[in-house]
Amino acid sequence: MGKVNLKKGLGPKSLSGLFSPRTGRQPAAQGGQARGMVVFPKEVMYIYLLEAAGENTLFEESRMKLKVLGCSGATFPKHHPPGFLLDDRILFDAGSLTDVLHEEAQMKVRHIFITHAHLDHILGIPFLADNVLSGKKAHSVKVFGIPTVLKALRRNLLNSSIWPDFTVIPHSERPVLSLNALRIQTPVRVNGYRVTPYRVAHSVPAVGYLVEDKRNRSFFYTGDTGPTGPTWRRIGQRKIHGLIIEVSLPNSMGEMALKTGHLTPRLLREELLKMKEMPERIYVTHPKPQYFKTIKSELQGLHLSRLCMLRDGQTLRI
Ligand SMILES: [Zn+2]
Ligand SMILES: [Zn+2]
Repeated sequence: MGKVNLKKGLGPKSLSGLFSPRTGRQPAAQGGQARGMVVFPKEVMYIYLLEAAGENTLFEESRMKLKVLGCSGATFPKHHPPGFLLDDRILFDAGSLTDVLHEEAQMKVRHIFITHAHLDHILGIPFLADNVLSGKKAHSVKVFGIPTVLKALRRNLLNSSIWPDFTVIPHSERPVLSLNALRIQTPVRVNGYRVTPYRVAHSVPAVGYLVEDKRNRSFFYTGDTGPTGPTWRRIGQRKIHGLIIEVSLPNSMGEMALKTGHLTPRLLREELLKMKEMPERIYVTHPKPQYFKTIKSELQGLHLSRLCMLRDGQTLRI
């Protein structure tokens, strides 16, 4: 096998199939290996190991850098709720924030896009606001969400009862937090990115975010979602380089998943079939830690080599 062009790397497409349980085994023709032994070309194995280690170092530096602060569907030690940090500055969901970023990194976060108002997706906002104020930083953090989500934040969290109203602290003209309403399917531009909210089906009003960079690379983050048709019909027409999609529960809890607006591996498969174009990579987030192993083995049963489960602390290059 010839030398792999490291700069280009092997795209996920060329990886897909190579590691699928159906096609991953290659004949042990070279090197006199025992019959039936799995043989991967050395370079391909190297790439696989790097990706398995969460480094993705062979992807171009210029690609979007997305750090997984948390990707769990519950909180336990070493299991943090959802938070995805783009280029150190734009956060998608704030379930994990001040509990995993040191102060200097926290102060770089200036934009937070919230998918919905459930506590495991907003938890870090009030604590970040407090740290900005206590650190005597003069900057303001912009929180984005659809109007119903912002209303829930204002009414139930930043209500001067559960937590101080940081939308008027220290001054109403220059508050620590500003709440910015988004319209469904209407993009906003932030730091050179185009961010568009799309409705998803959850137990409360919720959106997922399509994020596109100047090179037309893109990812879609679902937040929490159950089966949803219209969004896939809209964004499934186009090339998505990374789909970050939730799978919270195992197949045996399908009924509960439908009731609470979540997915199981079986339901995920149905969602993917709704997309005309399969995403380049599929990253699964939000599993309940109690069912992690079951969900993992059920996902492996889908035989999708382009799919992997995310881990806290991992950095993706999309
Ligand atoms: Zn939720
Ligand atoms: Zn959640």
